Amino acid sequence: MSRKISILGATGSIGQNTIDLIRRDPAGYDVVALTGAGNIAQLAEDAIALRADVAVTARENLLDDLRDALAGSGVEAAAGAEAITEAATRPTDWVMSAIVGAAGLAPGLAALQQGGTLALANKESLVCAGALMLGEAKRHGATILPVDSEHSAVFQALVGEDMAAVERIIITASGGAFRDWPLEDLPNATLDQASSHPNWDMGQRITIDSASMFNKAMEVIETREFFGVSPESIEVLVHPQSMIHALVGFCDGGLMAHVGPPDMRLAIGYALHHPQRAHLPVERLDLARIGQLDFTAPDDARWPALRLAREVMAAGGLMGAVFNAAKEVALDGFIAGQLCFTQMAEIVEEVLDARAEEAAQGRGRDAMTLDLVAQADHLARKAAKAAIQK
Ligand code: NDP
Ligand code: MG
Repeated sequence: MSRKISILGATGSIGQNTIDLIRRDPAGYDVVALTGAGNIAQLAEDAIALRADVAVTARENLLDDLRDALAGSGVEAAAGAEAITEAATRPTDWVMSAIVGAAGLAPGLAALQQGGTLALANKESLVCAGALMLGEAKRHGATILPVDSEHSAVFQALVGEDMAAVERIIITASGGAFRDWPLEDLPNATLDQASSHPNWDMGQRITIDSASMFNKAMEVIETREFFGVSPESIEVLVHPQSMIHALVGFCDGGLMAHVGPPDMRLAIGYALHHPQRAHLPVERLDLARIGQLDFTAPDDARWPALRLAREVMAAGGLMGAVFNAAKEVALDGFIAGQLCFTQMAEIVEEVLDARAEEAAQGRGRDAMTLDLVAQADHLARKAAKAAIQK
């Protein structure tokens, strides 16, 4: 029997990898909704090929283009943020949440209300509103499966284990584009240099976040939210080859590591077929040929984002939403050439200090609402823009 699925962020890097897996078994899936933003040609092509019920672009001004591209295909066209959230509530068994940024939160939350499975790539959802996401999943009997490779690795290492026996969770980081650069050169890092990752082929924003370690900082918070462990039990380990994605340390001193090629189809495929495993078209690692795996401790001077993540977790409440919003604006600033590479962390730190009162709000499962998160996000964006203008 085919499963009903939707892909939010279908035109992006995770979305396209998901579609690659779906296409290998066309009879296995009945595609309900595909969503995108600016890439109308890709959205329409995939919606037609996969016979989706509806294709939605986030950009209302592109609705006519989408309609034209879908003409005669029988696929419905829609546009706007609300239309994406509406599409996410259409009945399905499995939804991929792969929109980039805080824009992925509301649609992911809406998808949980169906009580099915949400494959969560959009880490911003847990960073901004972990309590809200997990509370909503529980209320509707929905399952959230991690797609971020580190969290998928932890999830897999925990199968059959008792959380009470978990002492620590170690997530690895490649170190990104500037791992070996002299510190004094970092302010001069260009957009092109920051946009190329040594191991992973990903969207531009997450690639730059990998170079600054904001991606890993977000993942530390994501780990805390997803697995409910204390901030002190989460460690980051620099591992340039990106083959061990995470390790779980147990109370007997043993470590379970997940090893795999740096290919997101592994984590996506795991979430797609869970609780079974299926054959996946990823490289089989030849460890004898690889010969050596390296590890070092992360350097706080090179990657201040990791220290900021600790501050965010200690503060709690809505500080995750503040952190993410400030980071998104600082990243926009770097992409637009308004900020140099190292100024991104300075802006985020300034906004965290300025918005410290958010820590008191939205603590706990019931105190956090989508409105409160949206308000914290809005104020943090305003503060970050003001800090950049200065
Ligand atoms: P991409 O930038 O490649 O794709 C983003 C997707 O979101 C595209 O479909 C894009 O549409 C759409 N989109 C952009 N802006 C909006 C908006 N305002 N509203 C609705 N949709 C929008 O990102 P990635 O695939 O790299 O990342 C997606 C998410 O997964 C992120 O949260 C990222 O952190 C996470 N992730 C990604 C990994 C990776 O390997 N890429 C690994 C682990 C996590 P369009 O392209 O049509 O404009
Ligand atoms: Mg990751």
